[in-house]
Amino acid sequence: MVIKAEYIWLDGTQPTARLRSKTKIMNFVDKETPPMWGFDGSSTNQATGDNSDCVLKPIRTVPDPLRGADDVLVLCEVLQSGGEPHPTNTRSQLEPVALRHEDKDAWFGWEQEYTMFKGSRPLGWPEQGYPAPQGPFYCGVGADEVFGREIVEEHMDACLAAGLTLSGINAEVMPGQWEFQIGPVSPLEGSDELHLARYLLYRIAEQYGVSISLNPKPVRGDWNGAGCHTNFSTEEMRSPGGKAVIEEAIRKLESRHHLHIENYGDGIEQRLTGKHETCSYKEFKYGNSDRGASIRIPVVVQTEGRGYFEDRRPCANIDPYVVARLLLETCCD
Ligand code: ADP
Ligand code: MN
Ligand code: MN
Ligand code: MN
Repeated sequence: MVIKAEYIWLDGTQPTARLRSKTKIMNFVDKETPPMWGFDGSSTNQATGDNSDCVLKPIRTVPDPLRGADDVLVLCEVLQSGGEPHPTNTRSQLEPVALRHEDKDAWFGWEQEYTMFKGSRPLGWPEQGYPAPQGPFYCGVGADEVFGREIVEEHMDACLAAGLTLSGINAEVMPGQWEFQIGPVSPLEGSDELHLARYLLYRIAEQYGVSISLNPKPVRGDWNGAGCHTNFSTEEMRSPGGKAVIEEAIRKLESRHHLHIENYGDGIEQRLTGKHETCSYKEFKYGNSDRGASIRIPVVVQTEGRGYFEDRRPCANIDPYVVARLLLETCCD
């Protein structure tokens, strides 16, 4: 018996990599350990035409909820033809850092915001002009307030069927904008899952003629941008006395603010303006329950003295492998 395996990888597009995928028909018996495979790196900004072969190395295989019970999605990392990690392979840069800090038992919770587009306008926006000002749309209900719920519901079911650690969804502040959450889960697994969840979202929306944008500021003006708030904790932070550990991590984050900003998504200056529930990228602020801060300390840390913190700076278009690596290096090294 043969099955369909969708091999998924990150390409070499600058400044923001894109997901690519292609299908391999393979024998059912190979499902547990899908083989390496090749692709034309000259078409993905990963090689030159005269030396175009790149290699897909399977990382994680999950059931494919879109095709069928036996079919699979195969998330891959990219190797050069000689077998060494490709320079665009940011997972291979996270891996040693994650292993070095395995004893810290770090958890990541990713809040992926995104915007649905129909043609050149966000889904649900009028042909001409703008919708009513922001206010009623966040967690809204009703055909005049939320747009694209059928896609969101299908995506949620697909993530669960694929075994991803999806922890919730909600409609966002700007009409046509939504969020899903992954985690809390370990650095490598969580980052892998975020990419798989994005892939499923693109594929499902495709069927509705809707495209998904991770642009951090999809509409200029008085409209919320799209972020990927990153919630982070270590075992120490989650244990009694954890609040002090969180505060120490925040001081370290402050000292490397600009390095993080540079790696938190192209277009971050447009999103982190100091308005629309953001802190300006030029400043570093933290605060209890403060959604105008760079780092928010959730209320549970106040009441219980332990827990996690929320880095509000990452944009919707981040590479989670890069963000996870930086957070581990800054907070745990
Ligand atoms: P917000 O109030 O900022 O919108 P959400 O409920 O959307 O928050 O997301 C919170 C995220 O924090 C979830 O992804 C959840 O998995 C994650 N999370 C909860 N506890 C922890 C923890 N101890 N460490 C890391 N992440 C956590
Ligand atoms: Mn959220
Ligand atoms: Mn949000
Ligand atoms: Mn948040």
